[in-house]
Amino acid sequence: MYDKYEIVMWLETHVRVKSKTKMFCSCKNALALALEPNESTCPVCMWFPGMLPVLNEEVVNLAVRAWHAMRCTINERSQFDRKSYFYPDLPNWFQTTQLYHPIVENWEVKTFVNGELKIFHIHHMHIENDAWKLVHAGSKTLCDYNRAGWPLMEIVTEPDFRSKDDVIAYLEELQKIMRFCGASDADMEKWQLRCDVNISIRLKWENILNNRVEIKNMNSFAAIARAIDAEFKRQVKIYEKWERLDQETRWWNDEKWTSSSLRSKEDANDYRYFPEPDLPTLVLTKEYIEERKIEELPIDRRLKYLNEYKLQEDDARILSNERFISDYFEKLVELTKDPKKSCSYITSVLLAHFKWSLEDVWFADLKFDVSELAEVINLFNKDILSSTNSKIVVEELFLNWWKTDEIIDRLWLRQTNDTWALEEIVNKVIGSNPTQVEQYRWWNEKIFGFLVGQCMKESAWQWNPKIFNDLLKKLLG
Ligand SMILES: [Zn+2]
Repeated sequence: MYDKYEIVMWLETHVRVKSKTKMFCSCKNALALALEPNESTCPVCMWFPGMLPVLNEEVVNLAVRAWHAMRCTINERSQFDRKSYFYPDLPNWFQTTQLYHPIVENWEVKTFVNGELKIFHIHHMHIENDAWKLVHAGSKTLCDYNRAGWPLMEIVTEPDFRSKDDVIAYLEELQKIMRFCGASDADMEKWQLRCDVNISIRLKWENILNNRVEIKNMNSFAAIARAIDAEFKRQVKIYEKWERLDQETRWWNDEKWTSSSLRSKEDANDYRYFPEPDLPTLVLTKEYIEERKIEELPIDRRLKYLNEYKLQEDDARILSNERFISDYFEKLVELTKDPKKSCSYITSVLLAHFKWSLEDVWFADLKFDVSELAEVINLFNKDILSSTNSKIVVEELFLNWWKTDEIIDRLWLRQTNDTWALEEIVNKVIGSNPTQVEQYRWWNEKIFGFLVGQCMKESAWQWNPKIFNDLLKKLLG
């Protein structure tokens, strides 16, 4: 019965901006969540009567970077609005947000879903402050105001999502973008990224959007995937019984894998939006907006690695996932002009070293400069280092933090171009493998690789196989 239904979703994501202080006051924006209840509060973020909010410049700075990263057009003028509703976590009865004149327009997020490049469109996006937190303790409910005034970016998509894979891929890309531009660490466990999923279903041949259910405030990919599965099945069962689906907000219990109703869903009219009288129009200059531009996003780099550099899909993904690795790779390519080797020295040599290292090390812990690794690759490309020796050099760089040149000289790793010594090796191999040489001469060209291998072995893997390749060809005529 599930097959004939299609799921249609859109997402409301809240990303917590990584500013030092809260949105409208100088209280700490405690990112680690370790504060005692109500430790980071003041009359402004508790909205005492008569207190005036002052917009935090750092929030605007980071948000503008994030909007550039979301490929938005950023408006020079925008206005805050009051969104009024009564809920116990909001004793002042309104949230400061943007509705009528939001700061940005036009945007999209591009990502791969199961190997296919997809574009998800954003409906609107703005900054707002967070409500406070209710803690239920026995028969009492306690208020923690630490969260009040946390700066948030709300990002609402179009109903572009047709599967949980779409949703997870989009959220992962969003997380990457936020980390890349430095606006947020977007750590879901620390509630720096949380997501409401709006779900409706329809028969596959229908075009209408049916009543929707919003599942609120989820903060793990696994929980989101489970909630989508469960909600899809719940809605199908309701339609199959010819019952009406209530438009409502539900809460997902990820321990019991079920959802329960929180409240019926309000329309925008119910919120009585009106312009916030306590905050002036936000005016940004063209230069301010321009200075914060971000040229290349993780997805742009990933596509460049695939299409221009012709790297494998897995490598392109690994090298674009994290800013630090990606910047390291970019620098290495700049110095070597060799994307393929730069890729393999990172993915198979450096990452292997990290993996086998006894200590917990990462790129930031490397004691040698990226130019030393570039030198290794360049020397290898010039046949001055053999493949085996180049790996020895990297290991020494890694363990003893020397300079590439110094290691090569100390360990006598420079490949000599002593033709006489090399010819002697090749002649020896030809002499001790008469059958294979005959085979090669008369009919079996494939055996050539075996002879090169023998030369490499004879030379204790000191030289580049290319040299033996050329010499063997010459001597075998
Ligand atoms: Zn405060």
